[in-house]
Amino acid sequence: MTVLTGREPARELRASIATELGEFAGPPSLTFVRSASHPAGAAYARQVSRGARRVGVPVSEQLLHETSTTAEAVGLVERLAADEQVQGIIVGLPLPSSVDTASVVAAVPPSKDVDRITRAAIGAVLAGASELAPGVATAVVRLLEYYEIPLAGRRAAVVGRSRSVGKPVALLLLARDATVIMCHSRTRDLADVTSQADVLVACVGRPGLITREHVKPGAVVIDVGATYTADGLKGDVDADGVAQVASAYSPVPGGVGPLTVYCLLENLLSLTREAQGG
Ligand code: NAP
Repeated sequence: MTVLTGREPARELRASIATELGEFAGPPSLTFVRSASHPAGAAYARQVSRGARRVGVPVSEQLLHETSTTAEAVGLVERLAADEQVQGIIVGLPLPSSVDTASVVAAVPPSKDVDRITRAAIGAVLAGASELAPGVATAVVRLLEYYEIPLAGRRAAVVGRSRSVGKPVALLLLARDATVIMCHSRTRDLADVTSQADVLVACVGRPGLITREHVKPGAVVIDVGATYTADGLKGDVDADGVAQVASAYSPVPGGVGPLTVYCLLENLLSLTREAQGG
């Protein structure tokens, strides 16, 4: 059984980003718009900032409060959209409950949408017009490619269908000619469905949901789940059980996670190059 760790491909990607950055007149910058009080948003910003610092990309933060209004939040994103010193904007979810998330996300121009969560960005991937997808989706595919896991013609099950994780993962696998089965909370007999897959990608956020019964013997299992528990960061996969049947699996922590940040920074570089007409 092979453990698909993300550290080696992340190191390679980091080095290539650092080299590419040398081709820019100045490093592009990234701004987070997020809740001042939500720990998940803060943890995400911290993780991205750490990776960005390592390659020399400046990151700043604009904080929203429980008293912030939708108009204030949208106004803030519009100012960042017009600011030539800002090349990338990330809306860190969840936003304060006083703010309408859809309106804030819609204010991010596709040209600065590093997370690729605007309708235009997702639509472009769906139309096959762009490969720029959310960092986590790109990281899943990068990890599979790094370990030379074949996808063309193989059955891939994606568990989870969110706009920012499950759906883009499925689209990227489809673009690589996998036969994609999408599963979600309404899927009946989940184990029946997922145990037909050669590649199983879990994007749910429920620790231990995927057990050995869900996995076809010899399948490759990618764990995207990242849930903070009292026992630390947990994926969706019961690693001990699944290790007995899978041919390879990606651990949490240390699998998809380390790659995600650099896939995101790669998006920033691509968008900056596009904006500069390169
Ligand atoms: P989300 O918006 O809550 O979506 C969860 C998805 O899982 C939904 O589509 C839901 O189905 C489905 N689901 C829930 N319970 C299920 C069940 N019992 N059986 C089958 N499907 C079920 O979460 P998300 O934003 O997509 O994130 C998913 C996970 O990825 C989280 O743990 C998140 O922390 C992690 N994540 C990791 C990274 C990384 O870098 N590793 C980056 C981003 C996110 P319905 O649509 O039917 O409700």
